[in-house]
Amino acid sequence: MMKARRCYSQRMSFQVFGIPVSRGVAIGRAVLVASSRIDVAHYFIDDASVASEIERCLRGRDEVVRELETLKTDLPSDAPHELAALLDVHLMLLHDEALTGATKQWIVERHYNAEWALSAQLEVLARQFDEMEDEYLRERKADLEQVVERVLGALAREQGKSQGNAASLAQRDFAGEDPLLLVAADIAPADMMQFKRSVFHGFITDIGGKTSHTAIVARSMDIPAVVGTREASRLIRQDDWVIIDGDVGAVIVNPSPIVLEEYRFRQRQSELERARLARLRHTPAVTLDGERIELHANIELPGDAPAAVEAGATGVGLFRSEFLFMNRGGQLPGEDEQFEAYRAAVEAMRGMPVTIRTVDIGADKPLDRMSPSELRHEHVLNPAMGLRAIRWSLAEPSMFRQQLRAIYRASAYGKIRLLIPMVAHLGEVRQIQEAIVRVKQQLTDSGQAYTHVDLGVMIEIPAAAVMLPLLLPHVDFVSIGTNDLIQYTLAIDRADEAVAHLYDPWHPAVLHLIASTISQARQAGRSVSVCGEMAGDPAFTDLLLAMGLRSFSMHPAQIPTVKQRILRADAARLSSAVPQILASEDPATVAETVFAGQRQRTTPLH
Ligand code: PEP
Ligand code: MG
Repeated sequence: MMKARRCYSQRMSFQVFGIPVSRGVAIGRAVLVASSRIDVAHYFIDDASVASEIERCLRGRDEVVRELETLKTDLPSDAPHELAALLDVHLMLLHDEALTGATKQWIVERHYNAEWALSAQLEVLARQFDEMEDEYLRERKADLEQVVERVLGALAREQGKSQGNAASLAQRDFAGEDPLLLVAADIAPADMMQFKRSVFHGFITDIGGKTSHTAIVARSMDIPAVVGTREASRLIRQDDWVIIDGDVGAVIVNPSPIVLEEYRFRQRQSELERARLARLRHTPAVTLDGERIELHANIELPGDAPAAVEAGATGVGLFRSEFLFMNRGGQLPGEDEQFEAYRAAVEAMRGMPVTIRTVDIGADKPLDRMSPSELRHEHVLNPAMGLRAIRWSLAEPSMFRQQLRAIYRASAYGKIRLLIPMVAHLGEVRQIQEAIVRVKQQLTDSGQAYTHVDLGVMIEIPAAAVMLPLLLPHVDFVSIGTNDLIQYTLAIDRADEAVAHLYDPWHPAVLHLIASTISQARQAGRSVSVCGEMAGDPAFTDLLLAMGLRSFSMHPAQIPTVKQRILRADAARLSSAVPQILASEDPATVAETVFAGQRQRTTPLH
């Protein structure tokens, strides 16, 4: 009934468009991770486990066969005839080579675990059913899904159901094989973390926005990614050849040889460009008029710190500590475990400052693995405005003090700065200060070493930007979180692709808040940086320099490009354009025109 076809070589070429979130070109074969309807583990097995994995798959199948046969024998004599016929259809599907044979192929050729192989093959076959002309046959897709779900259930029972969806794509040597690109309806930020150092060369998701945390983690991996395509995971099939154009947000599926060649050329060009920019690693970031600029790194885990040093970062401007708290099945990291993580980051930065942000759980970063769509639709009414970040920390005082103690203990090993997310009230700063006093006393009492730690707050809620003069006397520094500042100023959910076109960093209201925060902090003698995605986007480098920003924090991979812009900028001259840009109805166009004109009049030294 079904053809045991696994790959689609003759499929038509088509394009899908989404939001470009990480630059560059990736070319490879699509790997679809299962929809959340069937929650299966995805991981690669090693060569030695192929035979036993096939065995395991067949055992799962045989168990379901036995179940169905027992059901059939136990059918009461007056049971409708259709019931027995249905069980026969299910048994037939279970023995069909198109299911078992091709599933084995995924295990042998791709080293997928049994569950992944089965769900990949289900996906292939389900599409074949969809294309059938005969309505009766088309409707057999539901039967196929049911039997596969039964087999997955049997496998999960055998395994004790250990891994969650898409969580275990361990590293595997794919040398000599086609590059793989991951396609999914959505990926939770915590799952995205698992893909760091994984085999994928690019990502495509149906949902998400430019500064959703899934996108941020993809960007930190420095591989092309397009999110918010709405339907890529429905249109793209397992093993399709796909090009991701991360510069414009295009996904080209089954490209023609000419298009493929064109993109291979672009890929080579961007590799050359990267190599050229990497040579700036040891060049200090100083503008043409001699302003020294700090280029700090945003990291998610201590293991990211060496890449920051390698990229030429002069410190860590944002350590998103919440990634230490995720995917732990409700078990939060204890004080010692956190202390080790912070100390590791500090030591890896070799004396350069490390800004640790207290846990920013909530919104699109839940504690447990939950995809953005699950979050949005099932669990929390309005997570971005709920109990997130410092609100959650203050609601969990002993957890908060534990984190503060771990941070202060790590301060004995290097320069640490403490950064608080989502501050909106002066009362919150007071509560934080009280917690710090108590924690320092506890450490002193127990004879544990610590040194001075600067306290800073993130300016990411418009209220904080507007009341900055009241906040500044109480803090040592501020860091502008433009991702959330834009979200809350414009009332646009940063993770929602439906309103992504309205998420506008160039909006005059956003620019006013950023400009006033920078100038007021400077006037008050407080250091100010930007650690949102605008800091790493070269389209904003001139503007932020013009506004007086001297400290930027971004993913390590973005540092060379931003540094190149800094080396070519004359900060004093740029600043003269700020009033005109802020007064304009169309700041993006005015900034582009004015800055381009200035660049023409400036002869770069680099
Ligand atoms: C921000 O909001 O700009 C920021 C840096 O924090 P996060 O992206 O983690 O919310
Ligand atoms: Mg934020």
